[in-house]
Amino acid sequence: MNFPFGSPTSAALVPYGWDEDWESEFVPYAEQGLVPGRVVRVDRGQCDVVTPEGVVRADTEFVVPRDPMKVVCTGDWAAVDPEGGDPRYVRTLLPRRTAFVRSTSSKRSDGQILAANVDHAVIAVSLAVELDLGRVERFLALAWESGARPVAVLTKADLVADPVTLAHLVQDVETTAPGVPVLTVSALHGDGLDVLRALVGSGTAVLLGQSGAGKSTLANVLVGEDVMDVRAARDVDGKGRHTTTTRNLLPLPGGGVLIDTPGLRGVGLFDASSGVGQVFSDVEELARGCRFPDCAHDSEPGCAVRSAVDSGELPHRRLDSYRKLMRENQRIVAKTDARLRAEIKRDWKRKGAEGRAAAQAKRGRWS
Ligand code: GDP
Ligand code: ZN
Repeated sequence: MNFPFGSPTSAALVPYGWDEDWESEFVPYAEQGLVPGRVVRVDRGQCDVVTPEGVVRADTEFVVPRDPMKVVCTGDWAAVDPEGGDPRYVRTLLPRRTAFVRSTSSKRSDGQILAANVDHAVIAVSLAVELDLGRVERFLALAWESGARPVAVLTKADLVADPVTLAHLVQDVETTAPGVPVLTVSALHGDGLDVLRALVGSGTAVLLGQSGAGKSTLANVLVGEDVMDVRAARDVDGKGRHTTTTRNLLPLPGGGVLIDTPGLRGVGLFDASSGVGQVFSDVEELARGCRFPDCAHDSEPGCAVRSAVDSGELPHRRLDSYRKLMRENQRIVAKTDARLRAEIKRDWKRKGAEGRAAAQAKRGRWS
């Protein structure tokens, strides 16, 4: 049998998102005899990790950081002890490519990591209710900020009988989401599902969106069986041990992985200023023409954004929601300790650069 790359052991992880870059990153740990695996879920200082030997339980004691942004989470790639370790420990986490974070409602406005190493953020938007473009923008900002690529999926297209109306709705979302693919799907009739499957057919995807938007239905369609039933069934199989399941990390039959955790439902916005910038790239583009670099696009003279609104080039609603999101974001940011945040950013940048350099060096070695 031919494996796409690497050892037969790690090839077993391909359905869970393992690729050449992870393989390269893992080389030093493989040399120490550690086993690669992807974190399925975390609870009470332990986690379930899917490894080439199946799902194992591992203690996270050695990777407990004080920084909540570095806590082990679903989607992380880990190096765990080989079989025989009792208990097994997670020895290290590979540097994350992307991370979904939500602000907690606690007084300390710390972030909470929801999912790591997500490539596609599928934003489900129901066509059964009136389009809430502000909400779409929110999810887009969250997606961009995480580092994942957003896709807007307008669900329940079967409920919009008139094709002209449907085209207008798509257009509205397209103007709201520059550079983002917008699809329409009907889980009921099967329309558009192949396009969605192709989009999420490699890498890791999550489903975001309001409750009732059709996320569970899409998850079932993508996974090809009833996820809820699967969960229930697998929960009681074996000796009733939940450790045999990968219920939060579901390989898709056509390739790709779906991360589906309760925590991803109803996420808010956390320090998504760069994400907001990407959602509103049209506004930021216009703002470069403003006379003052710190123009608030309010009543300043020489404001290019206001004049675009006046000329009808930029919808007024869009400027309003840009400002609203920026204000909200600033409030969240202000609540968080600036020094800590700067440290996190520096650390992530450094890790990212080191990871890339190491991966490059190792790729050289492998070829
Ligand atoms: P979630 O809360 O985002 O997970 O949404 P669900 O997947 O539970 O869907 C909410 C409701 O929308 C359910 O009653 C589904 O049966 C319904 N629904 C989902 N997809 C479709 C679709 O393609 N067409 C129609 N007509 N209804 C759908
Ligand atoms: Zn301006």
